[in-house]
Amino acid sequence: MSFRQRILTGDTPTGNLHIGHWVGSVKRRVELQSEHDCFFLIANLHAYTTRADKPGDIHQDCIEVARDALAMGIDPDAAAIFLQSEVPALAELTYLFSMLLPFNRVMRNPTLKDELQVKGQADNYSFGFPLYTVGQTADILAFRAHSVPVGEDQVPHLELTREVARRFNKMYCGVPDKALDEDHESLGGVFPIPLADVGKVGRLVGIDGQNKMSKSLGNAIHVIDSPKQVKKKIGKIYTGQDSRQPTDPGIIDPERNPLFQYLDVFVDDESTKADVRDRYERGDNIGDGEVKMLVADAINALLDPMRERRLAYEDDAKVLSVLRDGTARAIDATEQTLSMAKEVSGTGFFPRTLSI
Ligand code: ATP
Ligand code: MG
Repeated sequence: MSFRQRILTGDTPTGNLHIGHWVGSVKRRVELQSEHDCFFLIANLHAYTTRADKPGDIHQDCIEVARDALAMGIDPDAAAIFLQSEVPALAELTYLFSMLLPFNRVMRNPTLKDELQVKGQADNYSFGFPLYTVGQTADILAFRAHSVPVGEDQVPHLELTREVARRFNKMYCGVPDKALDEDHESLGGVFPIPLADVGKVGRLVGIDGQNKMSKSLGNAIHVIDSPKQVKKKIGKIYTGQDSRQPTDPGIIDPERNPLFQYLDVFVDDESTKADVRDRYERGDNIGDGEVKMLVADAINALLDPMRERRLAYEDDAKVLSVLRDGTARAIDATEQTLSMAKEVSGTGFFPRTLSI
């Protein structure tokens, strides 16, 4: 029997997927899906951190995110796409794991701090906002995943997950203190210590040129954008180029000019890229307009087959059927882990069977 590695990753239903998802995580999922046991989570409980007052929107966005993932090339026969709120083991493990993490450790997570600030939560964030980071450790460990394809912003969450897994295995499974991460399973630990698998582009900047491209920040190019919308969005990118003096060099640093990160990432032809960079830097008869056109065309070429695939899933019922099938598979996998975890942690009494 072949041993297939488990992969778990996911998205929050806060809006449609964007090209940052593609380069940061989804492209990798598509590459991995046929050779691994893949589970892709729609983190709808997590969406309540910022939108608890919009249950209808979250509900619909679950379908949208699944539809976008299918459009991007996730194969529902190969991978399970499932709903967090319908897999009870995730909430149960969150409760248990929250006891294994010092409160201050959770609050030190730099991604959490960033999100609290960027998502305008000030001091009024819910208790559940920081709790979501613990929930994410449960999402991953419930599948005993070995690898988690994510963007750069998720690495601190993965570190937290690895800490929980180590602590659990040592506390309840007799794994020795000095055990190497890779030996935890063979030494009797319930959980493998998972690795973050960061895509080649760990952080695609948004069209605002400042923040990470995010569903909830209004700075994204979405899979559902029409070719015209893509052109319009790219056209709006501010590069500072307009105000430069004739002798100023053009900024081709992708950190400071989003257009050049997009050029790097989405235009394939190396000699075109080198030529554009060179001419732009020297101010040699090339303006933003030409680069923008090149970038918009490349992004549209990437999105075209996705737009096409998306048409096959226009019907919500079809998407829901994919989600139902994926959720049933996720319940099976996580109930197994949960019963192992309950047994060793003293919380298990009666075996149970769950089905949908
Ligand atoms: P939200 O604004 O609600 O947080 P998001 O756009 O950040 O939404 P998530 O659902 O939080 O999207 O992230 C899903 C996955 O996509 C994660 O692995 C995340 O790291 C990755 N990802 C999201 N945005 C980017 C980006 N701009 N560049 C690279 N990876 C990204
Ligand atoms: Mg995010």
